[in-house]
Order: sequence, then C-alpha cells, then structure tokens
Amino acid sequence: MFESLAGSTVIVTGGSKGIGKGIAARFGAAGFNVLVVSRHLDEAEKTAAEIGPKASGFAADVSDLEACKAMAAAALDRYGSIDVLCANAGIFPAAKLDVMTTADFDHVITTNLRSTFASVSAVLPAMKAKKWGRIVVTSSITGPITGYPGWAHYGASKAGQLGFIRTAAIELAPFGITMNAVMPGNIRTEGLDGLGADYLAKMEGSIPQKRLGSVADIANAALFFASKEAAYITGQNIVVDGGQVLPESLMALEEIG
Ligand code: NAP
Repeated sequence: MFESLAGSTVIVTGGSKGIGKGIAARFGAAGFNVLVVSRHLDEAEKTAAEIGPKASGFAADVSDLEACKAMAAAALDRYGSIDVLCANAGIFPAAKLDVMTTADFDHVITTNLRSTFASVSAVLPAMKAKKWGRIVVTSSITGPITGYPGWAHYGASKAGQLGFIRTAAIELAPFGITMNAVMPGNIRTEGLDGLGADYLAKMEGSIPQKRLGSVADIANAALFFASKEAAYITGQNIVVDGGQVLPESLMALEEIG
C-alpha cells in the first residue's frame, strides 16, 4: 500500500530506549539507515546493534544546538542524507508546584522543548538542499489535552512542541518538508516503568482499551507521518492513546466495566 522508503535515513533522538527505540526498530525494519541518538553512546550503540548493520549510535545532548549539528553531520557522513528526523528525546520528572524549582522547570523545558528547536534546526540545511524532509515530534496527551499533578512543566513543554510545529510547518512547506506530532498516551517504556507498578495498574484501568500502549503503536504512527503518502499532512498531531482522553468521567469507564 505504501511506497517503500528503504535506503532513506532517519535520525531518532532518544532512540536508545522506550518509544525512541521502538521507532528506531520500526524504521530499521522498513529498510531505513538509522542513527540512534542518546546522551550515552554505549546505550545508543547497543540499540543500533540490535537493529542491524544499517543502524549506528551517536551521543548527543539534544538540548544543545552544537551537539545537534554534530549529530546531523554524523548522519550525512555515514549515510549521505537526512530524510526523516524523529525528535523524540524527552524526560518526565515529577515535581508539584510547591516544590518545583526554577532549575526543575528549566531542565524539563530545555530537554523537551529547546531540543525540538535544536534538533530541527540542525537537520534543516540537509533537508532544504534535498527539497524533501519529514519531521515527526513525540509530544504527549499530557499538556496539550490533559493534566497530571507534578507535570505542569512537562505539560507546558509538550504543549509548546505543538505550538512550535504549527509555525515551523508553514516556514518549511516551500521546501517539501512536513512536520507533525504524535501524542502518545501511556506507553510501556523504561521511563514509564520507573513510575511504579501502582501507577501502571491504575493507569491501565483508566484506558478504554484496558491496556497500556506499546512502543510499536507509536512507531507505526511515526512511520505513517514519514511516508511519501503523508505528503499533504503538515503541522498536525495525532493522539495514540487507546481512547484514554475520551471518557468524560469515571462513570463513562464504569459503563463499559
Ligand atoms: P525513556 O524510556 O525514558 O527514554 C528516553 C530516551 O531519551 C532515552 O533514549 C534517553 O537516553 C533519551 N534522552 C533523554 N534526555 C536526552 C537528552 N537531553 N539528549 C538526548 N537524549 C536524551 O522515555 P520514553 O517513555 O520512551 O519517552 C520518550 C518520549 O515520549 C518523550 O519525549 C516523552 O515525553 C514522550 N512520551 C512518553 C510517554 C510514555 O507513556 N512513555 C507518553 C507520552 C509522551 P539517555 O538518557 O541516554 O540520554
């Protein structure tokens, strides 16, 4: 159904673990060259080795523009093009407002939102030269649609990403570059596991499909946005959450048992 993009190159930030690892594996299976990026080279390389010979690891803190430029240079050097950027790296430390410090706030905004600007800026010269590019941002339902105590800074960063892409998509349209966002619900990852078994069980109960999402659920949406067939979709976002944002009350969930 979809034209093959085998031989194209994708950079996946936060690709060593969790959702990013799932995205990297899915694109690898679709025949892409994959640059797996995280702050820890050993973990990025371990994930790349699991994906196969067309994948490799690179260490960068993606909140740093210069590090992102080095990341883009490595992709061009190793693979000759940058066709897709999956700007996925992110953190979600919790801090309620009575204890949240300016440093806490800045750390989350810098890691999640400034990194979107930095990684996108770094790949643009290559994409503009080719007059083709796909940028897929991992946002969240938390912030743009929902809230959760402890995550005011996180929610602001994830809503901010959507604001960023709406203007960026206009600026990039003349260059054949699209930019869209996937908004995951609760996806089973190393990061989410860190929130504890009680959180996972209660969260599962609040999802109409009664399961947490898999990294493949998000990767499939990212691969769709990256496809040639998605050429006319830009500046948009898609919720992938098993229906989590739909119930208007606990009663709505109780109705389905
Ligand atoms: P995760 O399992 O904790 O993995 C995070 C990844 O990001 C790791 O590869 C980590 O590697 C990397 N990373 C963190 N800070 C970085 C930085 N400054 N520079 C480069 N890489 C960095 O997290 P996840 O659950 O997969 O979440 C991934 C994305 O999905 C995030 O943007 C998150 O907001 C979003 N999301 C997740 C869920 C969920 O349910 N899991 C829901 C909604 C949205 P290093 O530590 O080695 O750098």
